[in-house]
Amino acid sequence: MLNVPSQAFPAPGSQQRVASQGRSKVPLKQGRSLMDWIRLTKSGKDLTGLKGRLIDITEEELKTHNKKDDCWICIRGLVYNVSPYMEYHPGGEDELMRAAGADGTDLFNEVHRWVNYESMLKECLVGRMAVKPAVPKGMLSKSQVTDTLPREGPSSPSYDWFQTESSVTIAIYTKQKNINLDSVMVDLQGDSLRAETFIQDHSYLVHIGLSHEVQENFSVRVIENVGKVDIVLQKRENISWKCLGQPLEKHDSFIPKKDTGLSYRRCQLISKEDVTHDTRLFCLMLPSSTHLQVPVGHHVYLKLSVTGAEIVKPYTPVSASLLSGFREPVPPPNKYIYFLIKIYPDGLFTPELDRLQIGDFVSVSSPEGNFKLSKLQEVEDLFLLAAGTGFTPMVNVLNYALTCMSSLRKVKLMFFNKTEDDIIWRCELEKLAFKDKRFDTEFVLSAPSPEWNGKQGHVSPALLSEFLQRSLENSRVFLCICGPTPFTDEGVRLLHDLNFSNDEIHGFTA
Ligand code: FAD
Ligand code: NAP
Repeated sequence: MLNVPSQAFPAPGSQQRVASQGRSKVPLKQGRSLMDWIRLTKSGKDLTGLKGRLIDITEEELKTHNKKDDCWICIRGLVYNVSPYMEYHPGGEDELMRAAGADGTDLFNEVHRWVNYESMLKECLVGRMAVKPAVPKGMLSKSQVTDTLPREGPSSPSYDWFQTESSVTIAIYTKQKNINLDSVMVDLQGDSLRAETFIQDHSYLVHIGLSHEVQENFSVRVIENVGKVDIVLQKRENISWKCLGQPLEKHDSFIPKKDTGLSYRRCQLISKEDVTHDTRLFCLMLPSSTHLQVPVGHHVYLKLSVTGAEIVKPYTPVSASLLSGFREPVPPPNKYIYFLIKIYPDGLFTPELDRLQIGDFVSVSSPEGNFKLSKLQEVEDLFLLAAGTGFTPMVNVLNYALTCMSSLRKVKLMFFNKTEDDIIWRCELEKLAFKDKRFDTEFVLSAPSPEWNGKQGHVSPALLSEFLQRSLENSRVFLCICGPTPFTDEGVRLLHDLNFSNDEIHGFTA
C-alpha cells in the first residue's frame, strides 16, 4: 500500500506489476506519488482534523466514518483518518474503501503486512479503539493467545532456563521435529533478549529483560530430534541468578506468523561489488548479538530512510558466490548476508541503497516467504525458470539442490534476460555447469545483439517443452519460477498447459 513508488506504479503493463490475485495498482493523478505524500505529511498540515489530539474511538463512532471524504480505518487497534491519503494509495481509493469505518487489520495483513504504515500514516492517526475490534494478538496473555490458535495448528511451545557458574541457557521446547538453525532468530540488545522460533506457520516469542548483564556473544544450538533450541548466554559476572528477568512485550506468545510484525536489526555495509552494469553484490554484516539465517527461498525486507520516511523493499539473500556455495555445503556461521540487487536509476529505494558508503547501516528484517524445502524431497529433476533479478531465489535453491538433495539427477536453469550484459553471474553459471554434470544452464535473450546465436524471445510453449525434458520418463519433477510478475504468471500458466500440477510448481511472488 504505502511504500510503493510514484504514480501508477507499477505502470500498466510494467514488469513490476504484481499478480492479479495480489495487489492491483491503479493510475494515480499527477502529484500523488509517494514522494508527494511524504512532502504533505511533513508540511505540518492537520491531516486528521483533530489539531494534534488523539482520541479513543468506539466501534459505533468508527462505523460512522465510512465515506471517501471522511474515512477512518482501524489497523491493529489504531485508527487512522485515511481520507487525505486516498488519492495517494497505489491500490486505489476503492481498495481503501473496503475497510472504511471498519477494522482493516485482516485486509491489511493479507495484502501488505510488511508495509510500515505506522511511519507512513502517523500524521493521520486519530487515536485508539476504546474497545478494540481486533486486539493485537501478540499483546495477549499466553492462555488467550493459545485460544486464538486454529485447532489443527502446532501445539504451543514452552521454555525453561538453567545456569552454570558462567552461563545461562534458555531452552525452548518447540514440540516439533523438523526445526533447524534457520528456525530461530535471536537479538540481544543490552539486557533485552528477543528470541523468535518459527514453527510451521507460527511464531513463538521469548522476550525478556534479563536480570543481569551478559556478554554480547551467545550461541544457538538446535537439537533437531527433540525439537529443542538452546540459547547459551555468557554471564558477565559469575554470580548465581535468582530469576531470568522480566517479561517484555508479547513474551511467551505463540501466534500465526502472519499476525506478527517484522523485527529489524541494523546491519553494516561491508562491501559492494559490480556484477553487471546495473546489478551489484552487497555484503552486509549482522550485529554480533544477532542470530539470523534466512531459509532457502525466503526473503527479507531492507529498510532505509528516504528523505525522512522509512522505505522498505523485499530482497532475497544469496550465497557470496555460486561456486563457493557449491564448494562449501555447510554454510559458514551466519555473520554476513549477501544480496544481488539491480539498481534502477529512477527507482525509489535502490539508488538510495547504492549511495550508501562502506560502513553505513541498513536495517534488515526477519525472514519471510512460503517456499517449503519439503517440496524438494525425492525430487529427481529440478527446473528453474528465472528472469532478471528473479534469479536471486534460484541461487540458494540451486546450492541446496546440488549439495543436499541425494535424489537429484538433473537441475536445469533457463535464464531470461534482455541482453548478454544483463546476465547475472554468467561465468559462474557456466563454470558450475562444467564442474557438475547434473547442472545445465540456458540463456534466453529478449533483446539480443545480432551476434547472439543462443535462444531468443520470451517464455513460450516451444521454449518450455524443449527445456523441460525429464532425465527419466517418470522422474519426479519440481519447478521454480521467478521474475517480473507478468513473466511468472505467464510461465505458471504455460506450465499448467504442459500438465504440471500446482504441487510441482513454486512461483516466487511478493
Ligand atoms: P522502484 O521505485 O520500485 O522502480 C522500479 C522501476 O519501475 C524503475 O525502472 C522505475 O522507473 C519504474 N517505475 C517506478 N514508478 C513507475 C511508474 N509510476 N510507472 C512506470 N514505471 C515506474 N530485486 C533485486 O534486485 N534483488 C533481489 O534479491 C530482489 N528480491 C525480491 C524479493 C521479493 C519477494 C520481491 C517481491 C521483490 C524482490 N526484488 C529484488 C525487487 C525489489 O523488491 C524492488 O522492487 C526493486 O529493487 C526496485 O526497487 P526501487 O524502489 O529501487 O524501484
Ligand atoms: P528485466 O531485466 O526487466 O526482465 C528480465 C527478462 O524478463 C527480460 O527478458 C524481459 O523481456 C522478460 N520479461 C519481462 N516481462 C515479461 C513478460 N510479461 N513476459 C515474458 N517475459 C517478460 O527484469 P528485472 O528488472 O531484473 O526485474 C526482475 C523482477 O523480478 C522484478 O519485478 C522483481 O520484483 C522480481 N523479483 C521477485 C522476487 C521474488 O521472490 N518474488 C525475487 C527477485 C526479483 P523484455 O525485454 O521484453 O522486457
